Amino acid sequence: MAIAGSGVLPAEVDVAVVGAGFSGLYMLYRLRGLGLRTVVFDDAGDVGGTWYWNRYPGARCDVPTTDYAYSFDALLEEDWVWSEKYATQPEILAYLRHVADRYDLRRDIRFGTRITAAAWDEAARRWRLRTGDGNEVSCRYYIMASGCLSLPKAPDIDGVDRYRGEVYLTGRWPHDRVDFSGKRVAVVGTGSSGIQCIPLIAGEATRLTVFQRTPNFSVPARNGPPPADRVTQLATDRDGYREAARWSRGGVPRELTDVSGVTAPEQVRRERFEAAWQAGELFAILGVFSDQGVNAVSNDHVAEMIREKIRAVVSDADVADALCPKDYPFGTKRPCLDSSYFETFNLPHVRLVDLRRTPITAVTEAGIDTAEESFEFDAIVFATGFDAMTGPLVSVAVTGTDGVTLEDKWQHGPVTYLGLMTTGFPNFFTITGPQSPSVLSNMVVSIEQHVDWIADCLRRLRAENLDRIEPTPLAEAGWVQHNQDCADITLYPRANSWYMGANVPGKPRVFLPYVGGVDAYRRACDEVAEKGFVGFRLDGPAGSRCNDGVIRRLQPDMAMVLDLVASLGLPPIETMSAADARAFSEATAASRPPGPEVGEIADAVLPGPAGDLAYRLYRPPTQGPHPLIAYFHGGGWVLGSQDSDDPLCRDLCVRTGSVVVSVNYRHAPEDRFPAAADDAFAAANWIAANAAALGGIPGQLTVAGWSAGGNVAAITCQLARDAGGPDIASQLLLAPVTDCDLARPSYASNGEGFILTAGLMRWFWDHYADAADRANPKASPLRGTLAGLPPAVVVTAEFDPLRDEGDAYAEALAAAGVPVRHIRARGHTHTSLTMVDVVISGAPVRAEIAEALDSLRSVPARS
Ligand SMILES: Cc1cc2nc3c(=O)[nH]c(=O)nc-3n(C[C@H](O)[C@H](O)[C@H](O)COP(=O)(O)OP(=O)(O)OC[C@H]3O[C@@H](n4cnc5c(N)ncnc54)[C@H](O)[C@@H]3O)c2cc1C
Repeated sequence: MAIAGSGVLPAEVDVAVVGAGFSGLYMLYRLRGLGLRTVVFDDAGDVGGTWYWNRYPGARCDVPTTDYAYSFDALLEEDWVWSEKYATQPEILAYLRHVADRYDLRRDIRFGTRITAAAWDEAARRWRLRTGDGNEVSCRYYIMASGCLSLPKAPDIDGVDRYRGEVYLTGRWPHDRVDFSGKRVAVVGTGSSGIQCIPLIAGEATRLTVFQRTPNFSVPARNGPPPADRVTQLATDRDGYREAARWSRGGVPRELTDVSGVTAPEQVRRERFEAAWQAGELFAILGVFSDQGVNAVSNDHVAEMIREKIRAVVSDADVADALCPKDYPFGTKRPCLDSSYFETFNLPHVRLVDLRRTPITAVTEAGIDTAEESFEFDAIVFATGFDAMTGPLVSVAVTGTDGVTLEDKWQHGPVTYLGLMTTGFPNFFTITGPQSPSVLSNMVVSIEQHVDWIADCLRRLRAENLDRIEPTPLAEAGWVQHNQDCADITLYPRANSWYMGANVPGKPRVFLPYVGGVDAYRRACDEVAEKGFVGFRLDGPAGSRCNDGVIRRLQPDMAMVLDLVASLGLPPIETMSAADARAFSEATAASRPPGPEVGEIADAVLPGPAGDLAYRLYRPPTQGPHPLIAYFHGGGWVLGSQDSDDPLCRDLCVRTGSVVVSVNYRHAPEDRFPAAADDAFAAANWIAANAAALGGIPGQLTVAGWSAGGNVAAITCQLARDAGGPDIASQLLLAPVTDCDLARPSYASNGEGFILTAGLMRWFWDHYADAADRANPKASPLRGTLAGLPPAVVVTAEFDPLRDEGDAYAEALAAAGVPVRHIRARGHTHTSLTMVDVVISGAPVRAEIAEALDSLRSVPARS
């Protein structure tokens, strides 16, 4: 086979690409198509990347090969037939060689050539790359297709160099077959590579000792011929199947479930699990329940069922126990697919050494010493993983615009825009870089998406006579925040995984890949490009332009709720009668999760100015008496009841350790202004007077409300001050209505698409108050006198039409000398915080509210 890299290295090219695996090969193909002079470097001796280096026995893909293949050329697809569901390393390497031959790619690839340094020359607007053999090449665009798992992690064990036997690293396996027959072999590491090679090495070795630090979840691959259903789908509608993969969550078409592992009955849970177990596919077992990635209870059901399977296979109970992962949620470390991995431990010549119980103390000349034993080996195989995602990038000395290296810039974790570029490093692209879906997806789908985006970007730059592109600090910070927001709602950060950089000593603990999904990610990238490269500064002979901005500000789970709501095509509430609107909101409320358990819930009535008012009391599980919260529900003075804000009241009760008394009040249009405010004031009076009987601590009353409830809560505080009682210790105003002026900017920016619309607010006001009454402080508390009011916690949400009036109230309270904690719920909407156990990202905000209320309780009372 012809290996290229001969001839003189051109001094200048348009594009230099590092890496000749799946990424580099397709990138070269696309760049050629654009007529850009390109050179590709790889320190390997041929194409293949991962599949060139990882030649250990049992090396295979763990995404079915029908899916783990290029889709950019239908003819290529039709010409290549995979022999197995999960192809072996030689077959995947043969495929990539076939691709290189088919498109004559090798002539532009320099093999055996490592890029060691790259520096940006601002004057020339070019990158200058240095190779390991001292050559230089200058390029306009520099693309790292260097892989996420291409830098093996050296075993960090004392004495490795001393060992006299054979040493193998799975990620750098020899090209000649290694024969373990008749040998005493050690395998150190039980991640994906260890789990793949252990059964095969056990088949040859006379004795195999497996050293395990962290047990891994693994699922039987059930390998065989490519799945018939998928082969048929591809044969009948290849384009449709590939397009579905591009817009799927993980890069493989799959029907997503809405079955919760928390609420599904035991039998359903087991049936669903068993089906996924039999399927032998990672995305199946990762998708048994809709909530297993975000809910610890749901996750543990899956984890426990896998542990049951392990115990059923492994005959020695102690060994089985050691092989069962217990200290991290399932899926938060990459799960494995195996062929007879657990069964291998039943063989008489195979032994497991649990390094958590007996750690390795040293590698000796003859083998391995643990705290309890000395082992002698003829060969040691280190399956110790990779310095994943960032390792290959920062191992090159990449120096950007102001002399800062990439390693320095990323010393606290990677900082990127879209995982594609990073500020201060113009014209520098990373394929499947950190903060893109990469290792959480079928990587070939993610690779094609990145390559296509970059190629399209370079095409457009050239078409517009521009030659420099760099993300802005604002866009980059926004993307980093969005990544963090996505990871924070999942269980991923709970594991010490390589996704978190935890396998490499000294590496910052930051969640590296984008967890929002291939589909959401593709949408964001497309949107950036379609809207004129949002968040990028573009320069060149044609001038400069920058459409600065943040592409994703909404909390990711709230965005999913909004997508779902939009997809339902529901009629706007403001088109309904009040009775229909109430029936609709009650039906919606009936389908939500209930919220946390409290100690006791009791329904009763209290006297109002025009008859009894129903209330619901929530008592904490702890011994009382407790602080007391008089709570008023939302619903625009028209909708809602003591029932409607149930999950939020439970949450408030548990988080604040307070008795919550949620009071219903009269509603419009039957009872218009000021009925709601009068009822709230009367209720607060009654609750304060009956504090002890309700289980509350007299003098520790908080008046609270959400939305229109926040409106009547704020007014109640003003009325109480003016009337000289009741004594209110603090007020909690959640996204409150504080003013009748609907012309504030947040009405324009957030008035559509975030559930509470500007139109609905108008409808509420019209039902509640005549125009002449609306400026009355009993309807618009912002227009009242604010001095002398109780200390306040005011919560406003970024995407709420009511945001600006809430902000104005917090500012006016502070200006009037009232102690205020103003919590701005970033990325949230008017309803986010009420969606307990649905919008998980609301939980930290509610925790902050509880902490703020607690701190206000220690503020000295007003004189
Ligand atoms: C054992 C194993 C199994 C896997 N199975 C799957 C799977 O089933 N599904 C899946 O989606 N993903 C899988 N992956 C992830 C896999 O890495 C990707 O799917 C894919 O092969 C990555 O292609 P790439 O071209 O981006 O990077 P790579 O294939 O890693 O290629 C990068 C190349 O760049 C070279 N390089 C890096 N730095 C430099 C430098 N400074 N100078 C010169 N050359 C450099 C490397 O030597 C390497 O050859 C697996 C990974 C491993 C290790």
